[in-house]
Amino acid sequence: MTDDPDDRAPASDYDPGDQILPGWSADRDATAEQPDGGESAFALVGNEIRAAIVETLGDERGQEGARPILSFSELHDAVDVDVVSSQFNYHLQRLVDNFVDQTEDGYRLRPEGSRLYRLMRAGTVSERTTFGPVDVGFDCHHCGTPAEGVYADSMFTVQCRACETLYDLVLVSPGTLEPGESDGADEPALVARIDQYTRHRRLAFSRGVCSVCANDLDVALIDGDESPFAEYQDRQVVVHQSCGHCGSQMYVGVGEALLYDPGLVSFCWERGVDVTSELVWSLPWAMTDDAVTVQSRDPWRVAVDVPAGGDTLRVVVDGDLSVVEREAR
Ligand SMILES: [Zn+2]
Ligand SMILES: [Zn+2]
Repeated sequence: MTDDPDDRAPASDYDPGDQILPGWSADRDATAEQPDGGESAFALVGNEIRAAIVETLGDERGQEGARPILSFSELHDAVDVDVVSSQFNYHLQRLVDNFVDQTEDGYRLRPEGSRLYRLMRAGTVSERTTFGPVDVGFDCHHCGTPAEGVYADSMFTVQCRACETLYDLVLVSPGTLEPGESDGADEPALVARIDQYTRHRRLAFSRGVCSVCANDLDVALIDGDESPFAEYQDRQVVVHQSCGHCGSQMYVGVGEALLYDPGLVSFCWERGVDVTSELVWSLPWAMTDDAVTVQSRDPWRVAVDVPAGGDTLRVVVDGDLSVVEREAR
């Protein structure tokens, strides 16, 4: 090791700041125009032909390999729209440098185009479905009635109808519900998939990063009464996390917000509970405020007592959701 930066620079054909993906940077140079960056994605794809171009290029790629390059005529033939070449080209050029790369050999999706394609696949509104009630594997933590999951309008609700408690409300794209190869129409497997899908979003949120657009989140503890779900959730305090860039937001209990605290995860793991794979709704300390003690509201100081294997871990957070204390009891 050395502290001289010049000695650490690798011998390389690439300049600092170059990406080593083959052909990627060069292709940017091959395009005639640079992105203007000013046109919104809504305007660009709010057109049937442009959406069809993105969809076709995504379909052509399939599940493996590099993004394929289609010549103009190959692409025009593959896109299922009846328009003359000049009109097709007009719409194609609107996408170039934003969602599509123009190379010497033809056209392919840019990474932003791939992401858009995946969102289109996941969110296809024409596939909207409903299902439920389904068993979600736990009895209501308040009244003991079996809780249930119901899916409608792209939202999966985990609820107790008996005492009208809302445990969770998850935006799940209809595409997520297409039977996986492993689970078919098996409801428990579907519920487990939704749980894991939700967890990856909540993990990012719990680390202060928006799971949709990767921007910083605003985090605030609010009075349980001020939650928009106050009527269906008996909570003293709620964590509100929101993204100023894309508007993603979540209201969760303090226990659930702490689900990925490393001290909490290991405490439970050492006592035979894997909180990263248990259905989150089955954890009463995460789903209710029974284990929550509000020590102070101004400034906020909130304790959660997490039981596992006969012991209890007390985790105390401040108004930023920073852990200020962990104590095993
Ligand atoms: Zn209930
Ligand atoms: Zn965001």
